Parts: sequence; C-alpha cells; structure tokens
Amino acid sequence: MSEVMTSPAVLILLGPPGAGKGTQARMLEERFGLIQLSTGDLLRAAVAAGTPAGMAAKSVMESGGLVSDDIVLAILKDRLGEPDVTAGVILDGFPRTAGQAEALDDLLAGAGQKVNVAISLEVDDEAMIDRVAGRYTCAACGEGYHDTNKRPQRDGTCDKCGGTAFKRRADDNADTARARLEAYHAQTAPLIAHYRSHGVLETIDAMGSIADIAAALDPIVTRAVQ
Ligand code: ADP
Repeated sequence: MSEVMTSPAVLILLGPPGAGKGTQARMLEERFGLIQLSTGDLLRAAVAAGTPAGMAAKSVMESGGLVSDDIVLAILKDRLGEPDVTAGVILDGFPRTAGQAEALDDLLAGAGQKVNVAISLEVDDEAMIDRVAGRYTCAACGEGYHDTNKRPQRDGTCDKCGGTAFKRRADDNADTARARLEAYHAQTAPLIAHYRSHGVLETIDAMGSIADIAAALDPIVTRAVQ
C-alpha cells in the first residue's frame, strides 16, 4: 500500500462522577470530529433495551458499584466494531479498572495502536456529590440542569428548547453518588499511575467553568489528534 495509514486517535477522560467528562466529551466530538464512547450511556441503553447484559448490569448500576469487566468489554467491543469510530474516539467512563485498562491496551496493540492521551480531570470530591445528586436533564434536548446551581429560568421549562419534561438518572442521588465516588477512588484512580507510567498522562484542573475546562483541554487534544 503506498498511502500511509493514520490510526484513529484514542483519548481517555478520567475523573470522578460529576467531573464533567460527558459534557466535555460531547464538546470535543463537535470541535474535533471525534466520537464519544461512554460505557455509562452504552450500559443505560442496554438496561433500557432489556438485553441480557443490561439486565445483569441494572442493579449494580443502581447501587453505585461497577459492572463486571466481561460485560463492559463486550459492550465496548461491539461499539468499537461500528464504522464511525474510525474518526477517533474519546473514551468517557472507560477504562474504570486495571483489568479494563489492560484489555484496552491489548485490544489496541492488536491493531497496531495505543492510547494517545489519558486526561485526568482533577476536582474536589465533596463538590462532586452535590453536583451529581442535584443534576437532571431536559428529556427532549438533553440540556443539563441542577436543583440549586442551574435551574431553568422559567420553572419547569427548558431554556434551550422549551421542553417541559425532565429526567434524572436512577443513580444520581446522594447515597449512590457517594458509592460511585468510592468505587472511583478504589478502582479507577489507580489508572492515573498506569497512564503516567506509559507517558501519556495529562492532568487539568476541572473545578472551573465548562468553558475554562474546555479551554484547558483544547491544546492537549489538538496535540493528541495530530
Ligand atoms: P459517572 O461517571 O457519572 O458515575 P457513568 O454514566 O459513566 O457515570 O456510569 C454509570 C454507572 O455505569 C457506573 O456507576 C457503573 O455502575 C456503570 N459503568 C459505567 N462504565 C463502567 C465501566 N467501564 N466499568 C464498570 N462499570 C461501569
């Protein structure tokens, strides 16, 4: 083959629940033409569809624990097999355990690829509980709101699309948020060292505004997709 093939970029966002991974991943999709792969979203879709994987995952998700690596890896591999991911991917909420990180490294090595960058969003834990427990979204357009920090301008009406139905994730309550934070520290935070030792770790302060975090991410992602 005469053409040099460029591999799709693989970016990882690390950070506790509420750090803003999903928000930033969606903005990066638009800005860089990448595809956001959220294992949380994929699992919620499996739960809603009532697939065997979804039925096995449901109660674990509601308790704030982690779904087994087998289920998560199977769901992720299916999604990676779809044609749109050739544009490059932002992994949001994956990997979450050492086993998942190793499985990802192996999967990429098999395709002659590796993780381009893992970006850790550094935040204050206690603030995350409040953020997660109070958040909800417009059922029609997905715009995010919060019980105290960001209420719609007119009560019960979405500022963006005028929708009047809102939804809240089953696991977005204070108890489950705390369990999710504990799972993050016990099982996911150690991956920061894994990616540092592979020379691909970047950390950013993620306590600022959505725009500030996006601005901090921009040069890092620009370098990673080049
Ligand atoms: P958050 O990052 O806000 O906690 P997610 O939407 O990423 O939320 O995940 C919600 C839940 O889905 C997790 O608490 C966990 O039960 C499950 N989950 C998502 N991704 C993974 C994963 N990679 N491994 C195991 N469980 C996962």
